[in-house]
Amino acid sequence: MKRRPKAVVVGGSVAGIACAHSLLSADWDIVVLEKSRCPPTSCPTGAGVGLDPQSSNFINTWLHSSPYNTPHSIRTITLPLSIDQNQSVTGGGNKKRSQTISRDEEFNFRSAYWADLHALLYSALPSNVVLWGHFFLSFSVSDDIGGSVSVKARVLQTDEIVEIVGDLLVGADGCLSSIRQHLLPNPKLRYSGYAAWRGILDFSMNEESDTIVGLRGLTQILGSACTLILVLEVIVHYMS
Ligand SMILES: Cc1cc2nc3c(=O)[nH]c(=O)nc-3n(C[C@H](O)[C@H](O)[C@H](O)COP(=O)(O)OP(=O)(O)OC[C@H]3O[C@@H](n4cnc5c(N)ncnc54)[C@H](O)[C@@H]3O)c2cc1C
Repeated sequence: MKRRPKAVVVGGSVAGIACAHSLLSADWDIVVLEKSRCPPTSCPTGAGVGLDPQSSNFINTWLHSSPYNTPHSIRTITLPLSIDQNQSVTGGGNKKRSQTISRDEEFNFRSAYWADLHALLYSALPSNVVLWGHFFLSFSVSDDIGGSVSVKARVLQTDEIVEIVGDLLVGADGCLSSIRQHLLPNPKLRYSGYAAWRGILDFSMNEESDTIVGLRGLTQILGSACTLILVLEVIVHYMS
C-alpha cells in the first residue's frame, strides 16, 4: 500500500490550523507543533479577522468533511462585512472635510473574532493532530532526491527533545517566523506605509445608548458582542 505523505506544520494559530485542514483534505498525514501549552480560550474582545468569500468557502468545505460535531458553516461565528469603504477626513472644526476614497459594494466579506475562528477550525480537526507545548527548534533536509525533512522540537512539559520526520515542512510560525529566517535570512520587514488604529468598545451593559445605536447605523459589523474600550492599539502594518 502506498504510504501517505506526511507534513509537519510549525505554528498552531489560524494559518497552521488552516494548512492542517487543507493537507488533511488532500489525504496527508499531519502533525502541528505549537509552543503554546494549550488551545487559546475564546475571548470576545480579541482581534477581528476579515474573510473573503473564497476563504469562507474553503472553511465551509473543511467543516463539512469534519467527522466531529462542529457547526457546518462559518456563518455561525461571523457577521456580514458587505461593503468596504475607505474614507479620509481632513481639516478640523468648520473646515472638516470628509472624502470617500474607495467604496466597494461587492465586498462580501465576513468578519470573525480571531478566537472564534481559531476555536471553530481547531474543533473540526482530529484531536491528535496538534501537539501543544512543543517548541520548534530546528530542521534538516536529507540529501537524497525527494528527501525527507527532520524536525526537532522541545516538549515544554518534560524538556525532552523529539524528532519528527516528514515529507513537507510548513512554517506557519507567524510574522517573525524562524523557519523563514533560516531559509531567507536577509529580507527585512518593511513598513507598508500605513498604520491602523483599533479600539474595542464595551457597551454590553448599555447596548441601546445613543452612541451604540448611532454606530450600528454606520456599520453592519457591530453585533451585540461589542464590548468597551479597554485598549486602544496602534497596529503598524509591515510587509515582509
Ligand atoms: C494586537 C493585534 C491585533 C490584530 N488585529 C487584527 C485584525 O483586526 N484583523 C486581522 O486580520 N488581523 C489582525 N492581526 C493579525 C492577526 O493576528 C494575524 O494576521 C494572524 O494571527 C496571523 O496568523 P498566523 O497563523 O500566520 O500567525 P500567528 O497568529 O502569529 O501564529 C504563529 C503561531 O506560531 C507559534 N510559534 C511561533 N514560534 C514557534 C516555535 N518556535 N515553535 C512552535 N510554535 C511556534 C506561535 O505560538 C503562534 O501560535 C492582529 C495582530 C495583533 C498582534
